[in-house]
Amino acid sequence: MEAAEFRRRGKEMVDYIADYLENIEKRQVYPDVEPGYLRSLIPEEAPEEPESYEDVVKDIERVIMPGVTHWHSPYFYAYFPAASSFPAMLADMLCGAIGCIGFSWSASPACTELETVMLDWLGKMLKLPDDFLAGTAGRGGGVIQGSASDATLMALLAARSRALRLILADHPDRSETDIISKLVAYTSDQAHSSVERAGMIAGVRMKNIATDSKFAVRGDALESALQEDRSAGLIPFYFCATLGTTASCAFDRITELGPICRAENIWMHIDAAYAGSAFICPEFRPLLNGIEFADSFNFNPHKWLLVNFDCSAMWVRNRSDIIRAFKMEPLYLKHDQQESGLVTDYRHWQIPLGRRFRSLKMWFVFRMYGLNGLQAYIRKHVGLAKEFECLVRDDRRFEICADVVMGLVCFRLKGSNELNETLLKRLNSKRKIHLVPCQLKGKFVLRFAICARTTESRHIHEAWCHISQLASELLQELPH
Ligand SMILES: *Cc1c(COP(=O)(O)O)cnc(C)c1O
Repeated sequence: MEAAEFRRRGKEMVDYIADYLENIEKRQVYPDVEPGYLRSLIPEEAPEEPESYEDVVKDIERVIMPGVTHWHSPYFYAYFPAASSFPAMLADMLCGAIGCIGFSWSASPACTELETVMLDWLGKMLKLPDDFLAGTAGRGGGVIQGSASDATLMALLAARSRALRLILADHPDRSETDIISKLVAYTSDQAHSSVERAGMIAGVRMKNIATDSKFAVRGDALESALQEDRSAGLIPFYFCATLGTTASCAFDRITELGPICRAENIWMHIDAAYAGSAFICPEFRPLLNGIEFADSFNFNPHKWLLVNFDCSAMWVRNRSDIIRAFKMEPLYLKHDQQESGLVTDYRHWQIPLGRRFRSLKMWFVFRMYGLNGLQAYIRKHVGLAKEFECLVRDDRRFEICADVVMGLVCFRLKGSNELNETLLKRLNSKRKIHLVPCQLKGKFVLRFAICARTTESRHIHEAWCHISQLASELLQELPH
């Protein structure tokens, strides 16, 4: 394809995308296909001769769309939102065009510098302590990771390396393998599965701390686990707190937990993958109090801040902790500039070498929405969740299962788990709306997450009518 055709096709594609998103609610939110549906629709082998662009485009509606779950439909209420906005999509086009691989400052200075500054902008929107900002000479700073899972793992690996270094400094005779076999990390029993997985990848024990009636980890629960493990000769070194758990959007008590971690030399990482976006609003910012005790903090603008996937923002208090853990410098990657607030080699901050110019989409979104626009967006979603909560509370057959703090409502029919499993199965098989469940203290619970950018009050009401009607049908079938 030459530039002239690209101009034409690009404009057509933008029209297709705008049509898709403008009319998305007319599509069935969840597809009807069976596993393997796609293989039968396309050839067994890649074509030997080039095909025409028309032929490729025709297959979007024939092959792809029938198997798409429409995450941006206002009838999609599953998981957590996947952020999406037009400015971010346009920036991603430009990112594709520049196509640099920004692993070091000199590999593309704009790619590195814009990222550092955008993470400072975002850190200031969240009112992060200054320690986490890069500025021009800071010790901390931010980085874009591909996902919250990457951030949790990076923090764990950096903590492991810091713990090893500190212990070896005091006990040079101890072996590394002996120390690693004694290390123990902690998280909440409500933490995302990626935290347990990070423990497996890092080869360290990961223990779950039991949560209270609000699904939050309290200081005393961590304290007693630490005591027990220390007296068994283990070495606590990492705690991953969650602000906004995946199941119910619960908040660990970091004002209690932080001082304990600080006193015990335990790296506190905060995973706020979903809820972090809301901390740009002053009314939600108190939930982040205690951040001053954290060593690292992460949330996903690609969930709730209108920046398309992938964009997971991570800050560290001491960049040297993370760099020291991973620094490798073969000659072909060396350059003359010294690492500082100005010159960052982000390859030392992440697992892969290559990285895209992802800060462009933050820049576009932050400028085109402004802080006020972003706050209004968060508040609108929270308002819709509260509206849904009221509808549920007004129906005595149902119960709310966790405090509704942000854009997630956990609810169920009063009654057995089986009853609720059947309700969810029927809801999802009708394919009018899409939800996923969670388990809370042994109860099967439905999660209703406000997801699409274009969700309005009328969609919430429609969804509730549908749920309540299916519930009536289900309850009528039961023997009285
Ligand atoms: C969604 C979520 C994650 C996983 O996010 P990825 O960016 O997909 O890795 C981690 N933690 C919490 C609390 C989440 O809600």
